Amino acid sequence: MAFERQDNVREYYRRITAVDIGMVARELLGAHVLHESDRLLQCDCPNHSSQSHRSLHVMLDKQGWYCFGCGVGGDVLQLVEFIQSGQVTRGQSGPMPESHQHARDFLAAKAGLPSLAKHGLSPEELAEAEAERLVELRVHEVLTALAEHYHGRLKDNHEVLEWLRSKYGLSAETVDRLLIGYADNDGDEGIVRKLTCKERNFSPRDLAASGAFRPTNQDGLDPFFDRRVVFPYWSRGRVVFMIGRKTPWTPDKPWEQGKYKKLPVHDENTRKHIAPCIDNSHLYNEDCLLADPERLIITEGVTDCISLMEHGFPAVSPVTVRIREADWERLLPRLRNVKTVYVCQDNEISQAGLNGALKTAAVLSEHRIQTRLALLPLDERRENARRELRERFGLDAAVGARELTKRLDGRTPDEIREAERLLSEAKIDVNDYFVAGHSAQDFEELLAKAETPLEFGISHLPIDVSEEERNRLLEPILREAAYLTPLEQN
Ligand SMILES: [Zn+2]
Repeated sequence: MAFERQDNVREYYRRITAVDIGMVARELLGAHVLHESDRLLQCDCPNHSSQSHRSLHVMLDKQGWYCFGCGVGGDVLQLVEFIQSGQVTRGQSGPMPESHQHARDFLAAKAGLPSLAKHGLSPEELAEAEAERLVELRVHEVLTALAEHYHGRLKDNHEVLEWLRSKYGLSAETVDRLLIGYADNDGDEGIVRKLTCKERNFSPRDLAASGAFRPTNQDGLDPFFDRRVVFPYWSRGRVVFMIGRKTPWTPDKPWEQGKYKKLPVHDENTRKHIAPCIDNSHLYNEDCLLADPERLIITEGVTDCISLMEHGFPAVSPVTVRIREADWERLLPRLRNVKTVYVCQDNEISQAGLNGALKTAAVLSEHRIQTRLALLPLDERRENARRELRERFGLDAAVGARELTKRLDGRTPDEIREAERLLSEAKIDVNDYFVAGHSAQDFEELLAKAETPLEFGISHLPIDVSEEERNRLLEPILREAAYLTPLEQN
């Protein structure tokens, strides 16, 4: 099968499983939906008789479901299959049963797509496409099982739990709901043995395909994360990707220096063992778009995004300063009801976020979506750190990231360390903002004051620099402004 064809089929499954699970559950279960909250539908399961009549849970935020009586769960496609036939097709081998095809056709009709059987595929190609979907399910099942394991290890580890709580202020409920975990691998073989045991029944190949385990030269497997806090990415009720935050317990090895480590992704040449579905295309919390929000907040880091979710805001994070061009194609159709996208980056001296926000604004304004930049306020301690940086080191808001190192040239190692300490003290991100005790209402007020990137760029130009310096700072703002439609330029 041609690569492009395969890609289309993956996109096909992506699109039919992008039908909102809440809508489907309400339609198919009707009066069986007995209790409804923001994040959860509690339903009477049609496939077992239950005392509580509420054992089938449909998670609106994670776009997944689980029946505590039947002990099964999955994504929207598996929910349709479960309700229609009582069966659930999982990441097994062999051909797809008819119940899967029925459910798939049901969702295809909702998504405005033809049946996959009428997609112009030969029977062999169809079988191969379905096999691909099974691999994807299998790999996501590995990551979900691993997240459950790491979550259990975190709950058992008071010290790490306390470190996480004091650093990021996340509630116990959030840690449980998102299965945030700690990569304690129980020695070299422990975690591998647990996942390949009879009950779990994953093969070493399944584990390697997830990217969370590296094949060794001795036919063994090494876990990718080692004593990091692991944040799973959820999509369609399953874990589809992971990112690990360094902790004080992470081994002091050259390859463990990065503060954050994302799972390695599929590569045709160097990482063929990783499944093609493990790629870098997921935004953290991207499924919040399936509920068609009217506004969206794009923020920089994973913990920033989680803080916003905790406070009830629809937020996503590319876990970097900007969204890649290739991802916009997938995202834009999902933003059809979004009127304003708020970008809320770290407030730091280098203003690394501003250029990214300008690019985002240019893409969105073409699609009649406004972009606003929300600025996190600095408290007194941070203002003081900025003043010290300015007075002692000549560093001010005009300094770009590259310029920073240049300006510290010739300083003693002690001075550089001091400047670095001040730089991190002079910075605030969304998570810091909420950890400092601010409420959802406070953040609403920041959103109300948010400016267009153009307004922002101009109003934050420093006054006390040379004309040459000002022009240098204005240049990227004007360049991006040229691409904005009149909607954004007013
Ligand atoms: Zn059930």
